[in-house]
Amino acid sequence: MRTTLLALCLLALTLPACQTGPPAAPAAPTATADDNLNAVLWMQASAEYHAAALSLYRAAGDRLDEALADPDWDALVAEERAAAGSAAGRPPAVIVDIDETVLDNSPYQARLVRGGAEYDEATWAAWVDERQAGPIPGALAFARLADARGVTLVYLSNRTQASADATVANLRAVGFPVADDSVFLGLGTEVEGCQSRGSEKDCRRVLAGRRYRVLMQFGDQLGDFVRVERNTPQARAQLLATHGEWFGERWWMLPNPSYGGWEAAAFGNARDLPREARRQAKRDALDPK
Ligand SMILES: [Mg+2]
Repeated sequence: MRTTLLALCLLALTLPACQTGPPAAPAAPTATADDNLNAVLWMQASAEYHAAALSLYRAAGDRLDEALADPDWDALVAEERAAAGSAAGRPPAVIVDIDETVLDNSPYQARLVRGGAEYDEATWAAWVDERQAGPIPGALAFARLADARGVTLVYLSNRTQASADATVANLRAVGFPVADDSVFLGLGTEVEGCQSRGSEKDCRRVLAGRRYRVLMQFGDQLGDFVRVERNTPQARAQLLATHGEWFGERWWMLPNPSYGGWEAAAFGNARDLPREARRQAKRDALDPK
């Protein structure tokens, strides 16, 4: 046997069993590093993400009857409820964001990672038009439970009104209850007497509050629940400190490590900075203690 190995080593000095010095340097990477690789892989492939989303929707479902039975239970912040008028006597609803809250767009993100690309409006619009987004784990069971209790689902999304048909078709194809066209409140929805800044959702929450008692809200971004006046890490932390006690009761936050205001806050919302500059700002924002 030894004789055979020696002979092989003489013939093929690259065999691992024949190497006596330090291991050779790893081969050059064949894929460019991408900040989103682990995030998208986690959302697509991990049991852990699936279980986290499932746990959240199950916990929310367990609170639904309590919310329905309590006439004072409402999930709009006081300022928005005041603008909407009293919730008393209004039919119950829950407000859900769409992307990464009830619909899973990780295939779009996966394409970006594989292609070395980043989000842009054209590729996003094409993805929306495909109507191929699946449900976030647990979302469908919760939606059906709410529907069975007579609770309307209001889909409050920054998908544009132009994408309403494709979005509603996607939601329905997956199995989400969509009562009628009025429950999709996309970007560009006119709200009488209310003017939002940019893509903020406050006026559309007020509109939902004029129609419904809002039992719960679901999102993957802080701005899905409350107006974010300044998207800085400090201001976001302050909002959390002010409203945090509603999370896990009236507000339900889905994990989204792939994108969001939290990331933009780390590079001063300068989304047009070159990729490397944004990455450096994010590295600088890390806390190594
Ligand atoms: Mg979202």
